[in-house]
Amino acid sequence: MNHHYCPLCYAEIPIGSVTCPVCARDIEGWERETPYYDRLIWALRNPHSEVRMGAILSLANQGRADAAGPLADCAIQYPVDVVQGMAVLDAMERLPASPEKREALEKLSHHPAHAVRILAAEKLADLS
Ligand SMILES: [Zn+2]
Repeated sequence: MNHHYCPLCYAEIPIGSVTCPVCARDIEGWERETPYYDRLIWALRNPHSEVRMGAILSLANQGRADAAGPLADCAIQYPVDVVQGMAVLDAMERLPASPEKREALEKLSHHPAHAVRILAAEKLADLS
């Protein structure tokens, strides 16, 4: 399945839309003016899990410490999505050690999903 969503209103739209047929905003302009990293952070709020998952994997590749907080918030916002929670923890592994990362892992060690909580606590212990 290959769906395409408006990055601004999250509606499903035809692939290659320059302007969103739902919210009428200029998608092409937004993509041109918004740095890639910022678009990835924004995509963490997308209600479609496949979009969030793509953003999580791409942020892992970017390896920026300041992604830790938004990644943790994404996992916390979808407490029943264990697969996503684990993907966020995998992504954390790729981020440099930093206060942001410690704070994010602390947050995730209180995640509602047991598996996420346990792994976050382990990674937190590894940091010290
Ligand atoms: Zn839209």
